[in-house]
Amino acid sequence: MGGPAVGQTADLRSDTLTRPTTGMRAAMVEAEVGDDVYAEDPTVAALEEQVATLLGHEAALFMPTGSMANQIGLRLHAGPGSEVISDHLAHVLRAELGAAAAFSGITTRSWVAERGRLDVDTALAVMVPDGGAYQVSTACVVVENTHNFGGGTVQPLEDLRRLREGTLAAGVGVHLDGARLWNAHVATGVALADYGACADTVSVCLSKGLGAPVGSVLVASAERIAQARILRKRMGGGMRQVGLLAAAGRYALDHQLDRLAEDHRRTATVARALGEAGPDVVDPEQVHTNILVLDVGAAGWAAADFVAAAGERGVLGYPTDARHARYVWHLDVDDPMTRHAQDVLLELLDRGGVAP
Ligand SMILES: *Cc1c(COP(=O)(O)O)cnc(C)c1O
Repeated sequence: MGGPAVGQTADLRSDTLTRPTTGMRAAMVEAEVGDDVYAEDPTVAALEEQVATLLGHEAALFMPTGSMANQIGLRLHAGPGSEVISDHLAHVLRAELGAAAAFSGITTRSWVAERGRLDVDTALAVMVPDGGAYQVSTACVVVENTHNFGGGTVQPLEDLRRLREGTLAAGVGVHLDGARLWNAHVATGVALADYGACADTVSVCLSKGLGAPVGSVLVASAERIAQARILRKRMGGGMRQVGLLAAAGRYALDHQLDRLAEDHRRTATVARALGEAGPDVVDPEQVHTNILVLDVGAAGWAAADFVAAAGERGVLGYPTDARHARYVWHLDVDDPMTRHAQDVLLELLDRGGVAP
């Protein structure tokens, strides 16, 4: 097959790799700004209002990262000596470097969830609403939609609603890690506000498939967001003329949201081709959005070797564990790159994992 043609490298390591588009850069240059620590940046205020409205919540707060939005979201529910529960693949438990414990004294418990799919009965069974003097009390259940390490899994709205009912009855909160809630919305047509109604606090990322260089937003009640503003400053997240970045987020929402459907189409095309060749490697039915997780172990590969071999051929991915390789579509990956990625991945899977 030889090396990739110049310019044909498909960087599918993550949808965080997108670079600001020309239109986005222009919007950033023109942004009206002020000091946001004094709540005087009109572009930030407009972004916060836009996102709060989309998600059907009272208020919102712009954050530098999704991790900060999640961790401040958790802190609004829980504190030292209380717990947060989620599935074992959840980003908040796995990929935020123990922040809930390190910053907020929060402990966590989890259950095994295939593909990160929400298991309402298990979540409600694991939850301890009032542990009294003997057990840790659960302050909050975290749901991730779409589920990153689960492979872009979309959580069904009826499950989210059932979890919401069960937790409300028990007086336990729900935080939605919606880093890719946009993808769930575009894939299913479910209104963002319908997802928003299933949680007390929601974080969304502007810097993933939407293509902004930086930024996440936390939404909640006005009271909680006032508290979040204090927590953000305390953590060193108070930013000044940050309307420059909020403008990128606004541009992304206005111009780069609907196109997520193209990422989904490309991901599905590759999933179908690979699933036909190797049904154990991927089930195309389980590929809901822009993330393709391959069980390359089923084809005899160690994930690290597979990712390295594909990388040498211009298709970059990420090994999520010893036997799974992840490929993520985004706005800097077009049809020819997708075709190239499909050819390379097919060839390697077909060859099997014994190095040539
Ligand atoms: C990317 C991501 C985040 C936030 O990541 P940051 O790099 O801190 O912005 C949170 N949750 C999920 C599911 C993610 O994929």
